[in-house]
Amino acid sequence: MSNRLSVKLSNLAIRIQSKYQRTLAAKCFRRPIRMRNTVPLISFTFDDFPRSALTVAGEILNRYGVAGTYYASLGLMGKHASAGKIFEEQDLALLLKRGHELGCHTFDHFNAWETKPQIFEDSVAQNRRALQQILPEARFRSLSYPKLPPRPLTKRRVGRQFTCCRCGGQKLNSEIVDSNHLWGFFLEKSRDNLDAVKELIERNRKLRGWLIFATHDVCEEPSPYGCTPGFFEEVVRYSVSSGAQVLPVVKAWESLSHNGSRLVHEEGRKRSLASTSGTQSADKPGFKGDFGTQGKS
Ligand SMILES: [Zn+2]
Repeated sequence: MSNRLSVKLSNLAIRIQSKYQRTLAAKCFRRPIRMRNTVPLISFTFDDFPRSALTVAGEILNRYGVAGTYYASLGLMGKHASAGKIFEEQDLALLLKRGHELGCHTFDHFNAWETKPQIFEDSVAQNRRALQQILPEARFRSLSYPKLPPRPLTKRRVGRQFTCCRCGGQKLNSEIVDSNHLWGFFLEKSRDNLDAVKELIERNRKLRGWLIFATHDVCEEPSPYGCTPGFFEEVVRYSVSSGAQVLPVVKAWESLSHNGSRLVHEEGRKRSLASTSGTQSADKPGFKGDFGTQGKS
């Protein structure tokens, strides 16, 4: 077999595997909500939480009167990673003081697909304990799956512990969204194409969707996983001027609740389980009246 053919076959195998992972992660153990929001939503999120995401990007967000969500792995605290210098302990309190939200990214920054569900869940619990030691009042209410989409059982186990969980996928959320698997759009993949990002913001406005941006470091010489302050600020400016409500992830999710969005039961029937009036579904004990996080079963 020629070298070129073998490379082609290997790339094809990677693409098939990646499609299989993404499809399985998206289709299994969903917690879907039919969106009824009247204005589009946009969230800015940062994975790994490099310091520049707070000191540079956080400052830009605050200047426009908005805030972001920071997905932290406390096992990475104070270290140098591929996305640059990671947050220090004092940054956690500073972040909350500036109106941002803290999210979980597992303690060990475990790959969501390659890690066994029990080990992944243990790392989520360890991250929670580590946060409680530093900030007893704070808690993680959303999670971002590190590196790859989650295994189905991982999604099932951790989905019930959080208000909502975010993946990648380079898509916006619209109509029916899965709280256990919100789509995210990594800005660094389009950092040389601002027009493509503006088009997406425009599409989000027309669809009244929920666009969740993600990135890592934001600095003049970003890693392959980050972007420059100039690019980031243009995206923030365009997002705000699009008329979208720019909110951290859990606040955006809660605003869906207040706008009459509803939990739907799939598998063909698509019936409402709980209305926003606070009615508790009799056949689904454990659900909060406002399609809130499922109780641990
Ligand atoms: Zn990460």
